[in-house]
Amino acid sequence: MTAAGFADLKNLKPGFNLFSSQQDIEVGREAAAEVARKQSIVRNSELNNYLTSLVQRLGRSPHAGTEFPFSVQAISDKNINAFALPGGPLFVYTGLISLADNEAQLAGVLAHEMSHIRLRHGTSQASKANLIQLPLMLAGGLAGNGLLGQLTQLGIGLGSGSVLLKMSRTAESQADYNGALIMAEAGYNPIEMARLFQKLEAQEGQARSAQFLSDHPNPGNRIKAVQEEIQQMPRRSYNTDTRQFARIKDVVAHLPPPGQLRGQYDDGHTPPAAPDARPSKQSKQYQGRLFTFGYPDNWQMFGNPQSAMVTIAPADGVVQDRSGKVSIGYGAVVSYYLLQSDEIGPPRDTDKLQSDTDDLVRQLQHSDRTIRAGEQRGIKVNGYPALVTTLNASSPFQGETEIDQLVTVARPQGLWYMVFISPQSESRDIQPVFDQMLRSVRFRSSAQ
Ligand SMILES: [Zn+2]
Repeated sequence: MTAAGFADLKNLKPGFNLFSSQQDIEVGREAAAEVARKQSIVRNSELNNYLTSLVQRLGRSPHAGTEFPFSVQAISDKNINAFALPGGPLFVYTGLISLADNEAQLAGVLAHEMSHIRLRHGTSQASKANLIQLPLMLAGGLAGNGLLGQLTQLGIGLGSGSVLLKMSRTAESQADYNGALIMAEAGYNPIEMARLFQKLEAQEGQARSAQFLSDHPNPGNRIKAVQEEIQQMPRRSYNTDTRQFARIKDVVAHLPPPGQLRGQYDDGHTPPAAPDARPSKQSKQYQGRLFTFGYPDNWQMFGNPQSAMVTIAPADGVVQDRSGKVSIGYGAVVSYYLLQSDEIGPPRDTDKLQSDTDDLVRQLQHSDRTIRAGEQRGIKVNGYPALVTTLNASSPFQGETEIDQLVTVARPQGLWYMVFISPQSESRDIQPVFDQMLRSVRFRSSAQ
């Protein structure tokens, strides 16, 4: 007698679609970048690694398919939501992680969302929504705006009610069905997915889960449908929880609010402000037209070596507030301060280091009223006399004071300066890295 295997269960296939699989991936990649710009992505490596391991485990199920590269990011938001973009990117709100009673429930939402991706529901719905201009646009490849930009022009963007995100009841039934298979194959009890949906629909959760429920409408009898499906599955024992899940819920409960770096844990242990930002021991060379220096190779350079200014920062060091304003909270900025009268004329007199530095500090204070100048000391940079001025300011990381070290050198092109920026809580740890960067500075003697 042959036991019923997963292979005997109905295997759903993607429906009508004008997009190629590659175009699903392209749209998803562009849309994910847009999400990351607009929402507060959690940068906590413990949480990120955990979510990634769940998605990888689920992704090994044959019902997850092999076509799309799944990825997952958490969004710092107390609302209860999760969504999938075409071609692989998954997003889960911290509010949903907090709501889940066990790992299987979280895995259930992920498996459900992965099923929308695998069954290509978003682009299938988009295809049906615009059968006239869309084929031509898709045939045109990536000219112009990028695929997402062109879709937006056709009314298929990422906004609320987008056909890419708002699923039909048929798509929901399919994602439940396929998601339950993914869960079971990964060893999770599929009923937990239905239980989480039920929990979402419970009265108390509704306001915070309105978006999720609107994008994933109840196809009716969710629990019963999953129970019946389980009956057809080969019998096996399922896992619902791990010890790791309790730890992850604690991490989520103590994440700093969006825009902040640090969180406090119950056990008094303070996690590194930005684990992914920790400077690597390897250094990379900035080769500018007027100067060169080394910096940690996992930090990014923003700027053009042909210009006289550059910003070096870890990805987590660039902070965007709710109004969209971008600030450097952690990193280094290098540039020349060109006094107006010096833009044309003979090379500068280098004894003006002190007065030019004072002028620059006043200019900085003019643009940021919170800046207070502190102690000043003389050093050498690449053999030239330099001043280090310590500044305090308010940090874009909430609740933090910022410590800036402004290093100035009088150069023929103007006052060269390098500002090292960090929140006070990090300033001691980062000091050796800043010192090393400063020691590596070399001015090019015959800059054109
Ligand atoms: Zn759904």
